[in-house]
Amino acid sequence: MLPPHHFDYIIVGAGSAGCVLADRLTASGQHRVLLLEAGGHDRNIWIHIPLGYGKLFHNPKVNWLYTTEPEPDLGNRKIIQPCGKVLGGSSSINGLLYVRGQPEDYDHWRQLGNAGWGFSDVLPYFRRAEDQERGPDALHGVGGPLAVSNVSEPHPLCEAFIQATQQAGFPRNDDFNGPTQEGAGYFQLTARKGRRCSTAVGYLRSAWRRPNLAVVTNALATRILFSARRAVGVEYRRDTTLQTAYASGEVIVAGGAFNSPRLLQLSGIGPPDLLRSFGIPVIADMPGVGAELRDHYQVRMQYRCTEPITMNDVLNRWRHRIRAGLRYVISRKGMLTIGAGYAGAFLRTRPLASPDVQVHFLIFSADTAGAALHPFSGFMTSICQLRPESRGFVRIKSSDPNAPPAIQPRYLSSRSDCETTVAGMKLLRTIMSQPAMRRYIAQELEPGEECRSDTDMLSFARLTGTTVYHPTSTCRMGSDSGAVVDERLRVRGIDALRIIDGSIMPTLVSGNTNAAIVMIAEKGADLILQDAGAPLALI
Ligand SMILES: Cc1cc2nc3c(=O)[nH]c(=O)nc-3n(C[C@H](O)[C@H](O)[C@H](O)COP(=O)(O)OP(=O)(O)OC[C@H]3O[C@@H](n4cnc5c(N)ncnc54)[C@H](O)[C@@H]3O)c2cc1C
Repeated sequence: MLPPHHFDYIIVGAGSAGCVLADRLTASGQHRVLLLEAGGHDRNIWIHIPLGYGKLFHNPKVNWLYTTEPEPDLGNRKIIQPCGKVLGGSSSINGLLYVRGQPEDYDHWRQLGNAGWGFSDVLPYFRRAEDQERGPDALHGVGGPLAVSNVSEPHPLCEAFIQATQQAGFPRNDDFNGPTQEGAGYFQLTARKGRRCSTAVGYLRSAWRRPNLAVVTNALATRILFSARRAVGVEYRRDTTLQTAYASGEVIVAGGAFNSPRLLQLSGIGPPDLLRSFGIPVIADMPGVGAELRDHYQVRMQYRCTEPITMNDVLNRWRHRIRAGLRYVISRKGMLTIGAGYAGAFLRTRPLASPDVQVHFLIFSADTAGAALHPFSGFMTSICQLRPESRGFVRIKSSDPNAPPAIQPRYLSSRSDCETTVAGMKLLRTIMSQPAMRRYIAQELEPGEECRSDTDMLSFARLTGTTVYHPTSTCRMGSDSGAVVDERLRVRGIDALRIIDGSIMPTLVSGNTNAAIVMIAEKGADLILQDAGAPLALI
C-alpha cells in the first residue's frame, strides 16, 4: 500500500545519511517522514556477511554500477564506480572500515567559513552515533546505533605488515580514530558479532515500526517540485507509475555524491547552460552543483606469498572454504568477517603535520576488485593520497531520470597528487623490504621489479589505479559562489531544501568516508530539528 501524500519531511535516498535522518527525525513522534529509496530491501545475505562485499561490486540489484567517462590522465580508462542502491545505500555494500579522518580535516572545514564544523563541534556526533566495542572514552561513544568492532582475530601477515612498518620507522597504532592517526595497525569495522552494521541495520530497523515513518523502496525520485523558490515536494517513479508526495516542512536530498547533484540538475538547480541544453527550466543558477567531485585514488601492489596462509588458499579450496563457513556460523570468526582492509596504515611521505597517505593491507590478491582470487598464495597492499587536489564533475547526460550521469573525477590531474602517489608507492616498497615482511614475499607481482623509476611508477599508477569509492564534494558546503549548501546544509537561495550526505563535504576527509557521513547526518538531523523549534541535546 502506498503512503498518503503529505508529510512534514521527505528524504530522498535511504543510504548512509538517509537512514540516520529517518531515524532521528521520527524519534520524537512529532514529524511525519517519507523515506524514498530507489533500490530494494537489504535481504541479500552477502550484504550482511562482511566478506560478501566482494560479491556486491557487480550486482545491479544493489548497486548503481556507474562508470566514469574516459579519464584523460589514466590513458582514457573508464573506472568503475560502485554505489549502493538498496536500503543502507553504500553502507550496505561498502568495505566496513570505520575511519573518521583527521581532526585537522574538520578544523579546516571550519577555517573555510563553515561555523559549527570544527572537530570539537562534530566529535559529539561521532560519539553519539557510535557503539564502540572497546568501551567509551573522550573520543569514543557507546550505546549509539552504529556498531564499531575489532577484527575478529589477528593474522600473521597483518602482524608482519605492522611490524615491518615499525621497522621502517613508523609507530604502531591500535586506534586510527584515537589521539593520533599516524602508524600501522588493524582497522575497526562497522559490524556487530561478525555481521555488517549498515545504517539500515543500525538506524532504520528500529525506526521502521514507527507510525510516523513511511519507507518506500524501488522509488526513484525524478524531480524536486518547487513553488517559486521553495521546495514543496518530490515526484518519484515506482514501477511504471509516477507519484507525487508533498512536504510541508522540508525536502532533504540524501542521494550520495553522484545522485544528489544529478537530482538537483534534473530539477532545475545547477549550471544553467547544462540545464538548458537538455530543455530543463532553470530554477536556480548554481554552477557548483556537480562541480568539484573529489575521490581517493588507489594504486595496488600485489605479492606472491611464500606460505599458504592467505585468503586465496582458503577460498580456492572447497574443504577450507566449508571449514571457514562453519567457523563463521559457529563462532563468527575467521575469513568471512574480513572487510575491505584487515590491517592498514596512515603515513607521512614527507615532513608534514599529519599523514598524507593511507595504506590498505589485504590478505588476498586478485586482478581487480571483485574478481576471482589468484590461484596461488598472494596478498596485496594499496596506497592512496588522503587529500587529493584533483577535482572533477558529475553532470547529467540527458533529461531522462533513468540515464546515468557523466562522472569524471579527473584522477591524477594534479601534479601534487602524482608526486604523493609515487612517494607513497616508494614508501610501501620500503616497508615491504623490511625483515618482518620479507620472509613472506616470494615475488612482487605488481608493479614488479622492472618498475623502478618515478616515471615507471607514475605510469603504473595511471594504467592500473582505481577508486577507493569515496566520491564527495559535488554539492559542497560553503559561502562562496561555488558552494551549494550553507553551514546549516540548506541549499543556498532556495527555501525548504537541504542536502545531507557525502556530497556536502567541503573537502575530502583523510580516511574512509562512511563514518564522516553518518556524523554529517547526525548533525544535519539536529539542524533540521532545531530550525523546527525542537530543543536539542547536542547543539
Ligand atoms: C564498494 C564500496 C566500498 C566502500 N568502503 C568503505 C569503507 O570500507 N569504509 C568507509 O568508511 N567507506 C567506504 N565506502 C564509502 C562509503 O560507504 C560512502 O561514502 C557512503 O556510504 C556514502 O553515503 P551517502 O549517504 O552519501 O550515499 P549512499 O550511502 O550511497 O546513499 C545514497 C542512497 O540514495 C539512493 N538514491 C540515490 N538517488 C536516488 C533517487 N533519485 N531516488 C531515490 N533514491 C535515491 C541510493 O540508492 C542510495 O541508497 C565505500 C563505498 C563503496 C561503494
